Amino acid sequence: MHSNNNLEDVIIVIGAGPAGLTAAYELARNGDYKVVVIEALDRVGGLSRTVPTPYGRMDLGGHRFFTKEGRVNDFWHNVAGDMMVERERHSRILYRGHLLDYPVRLSGDTFRAMGIGGTIRAGWGYMCSTIHKRPERSLEDFYINRFGRGLYSMFFESYTAKVWGVHPSALSPDWGAQRVKSLSVSKVIKDMLRRRPSGVDGPTTLIRRFEYPPHGPGQLWEAVADRLEKLGGRVILNTRVDAIVVDCNNSVTSVKLSDGTTIQGRTVVNTMPLKKLAESLQGAKLSPEAKKIASELQYRDFIMVGLPVCRESVKMPLTDNWIYIQDKRVNLGRLQVFNNWSRDMVTDPDNIIWLGLEYFASKGDRLWTMSDEDMARLATQELITIGLINNVADVLVDGITRINVPDAYPSYLGAYYHLDRLKGELDAIGGLWTIGRAGQHRYNNMDHSMLTGMLAADAILNGSIDRTPVWSVNTSDDYHEEGK
Ligand SMILES: Cc1cc2nc3c(=O)[nH]c(=O)nc-3n(C[C@H](O)[C@H](O)[C@H](O)COP(=O)(O)OP(=O)(O)OC[C@H]3O[C@@H](n4cnc5c(N)ncnc54)[C@H](O)[C@@H]3O)c2cc1C
Repeated sequence: MHSNNNLEDVIIVIGAGPAGLTAAYELARNGDYKVVVIEALDRVGGLSRTVPTPYGRMDLGGHRFFTKEGRVNDFWHNVAGDMMVERERHSRILYRGHLLDYPVRLSGDTFRAMGIGGTIRAGWGYMCSTIHKRPERSLEDFYINRFGRGLYSMFFESYTAKVWGVHPSALSPDWGAQRVKSLSVSKVIKDMLRRRPSGVDGPTTLIRRFEYPPHGPGQLWEAVADRLEKLGGRVILNTRVDAIVVDCNNSVTSVKLSDGTTIQGRTVVNTMPLKKLAESLQGAKLSPEAKKIASELQYRDFIMVGLPVCRESVKMPLTDNWIYIQDKRVNLGRLQVFNNWSRDMVTDPDNIIWLGLEYFASKGDRLWTMSDEDMARLATQELITIGLINNVADVLVDGITRINVPDAYPSYLGAYYHLDRLKGELDAIGGLWTIGRAGQHRYNNMDHSMLTGMLAADAILNGSIDRTPVWSVNTSDDYHEEGK
């Protein structure tokens, strides 16, 4: 079937995540094309997929549906109908055995958790930071300038190092400017005095309400894939794109798949990571500098461990969607409580608490290469260390599921700062569009990943070759949330 396609009509989309499926759906809905989506995994949704297990469904990270983009919101509601449930966000920080509000509020609990010495250090550090501003050369400087050294070392230092695998003193301050720009001690005090829970009009750091499909984010992406197929599009699973073939005019002609077949097509919409995209291009005019930039792009990887615990064994009141773990004794970064995202995420919600333990890792490191059995042991032991359960026996070991997620976080380090050169050369390849999170090496949430897909589809439908609108998505710095 693959080799009979008409070269002009077929649009090949690489990856069935939010960006790829959105682009494919918009193209199939509005144009007269054959759209083929090639997905390496056994299901659609990408990072936003739902993985079913005997004890419950796993959401790799806890995906809130929240957007300020009207077009994305309309898309979600058009596809989901009344499927979505509205949720009140509840997330806290586990700090020295105390569950504190996130963002941290100046409450009795916070002072108790910090202790007298810690409170004095925090207050003194904050006062010093208002008088003396450090030159902002690193993320550490950024945090200390806004929160003071005491609060920084209590609430940001070790967590940031866990997320990125690099100490904040080695990270760029730009990341802070993007992710936590709107958070500061004065903001915390103002919010506390006004007692105002921020809603959709607040900065993203403090978003309180979001929507969620009962079976997790993948439910929506499965619905999009179904609609696409009803429109005549195809989604091919368990198949990787290994090469994108470019002719001597620097235009795409076909893609080669891991099953040995080739699909002819003059338009390719890519969502695989830029680093892999550059490696996959055959015959493209890419300079050695551009290739070097692509090869040096960095990613932070991620491991999700699904772990069922008997409800009566849990020693803390778990009302949260997720909990940030601020505890240097453990590798655990965040804890998802799937019961509180949706009861339908859990097979037996009355008796089981279905947890998702999030570990930040790098390919090849100790956590990434740890066997499933050792990972299960580590995860169980860390729940005991943080005081959530008492015994190994509280965990239903036959239900532990571990998923390694490569390239989850495009890092804003090193070669990232030379991305424009690579972008320029990729844009010169006729018929190639690169969109989404890893496909643009940008910290996009689902909505922005989707928007890049919508804008690429618009351009293709209009016969435009201008990639500027697609690259311009999510370039303002007031629209992010820490740690996601
Ligand atoms: C921990 C975590 C929490 C998050 N929380 C939220 C949240 O609360 N709200 C929110 O809106 N967003 C959230 N996000 C972001 C969201 O997951 C992404 O924005 C979104 O999934 C990106 O969509 P995408 O299509 O660009 O890429 P992806 O989701 O990465 O999809 C790309 C797809 O391409 C496939 N692929 C790659 N290479 C190939 C190849 N060579 N051949 C074929 N297929 C290939 C992959 O298998 C994958 O399925 C979170 C992300 C993480 C990591």
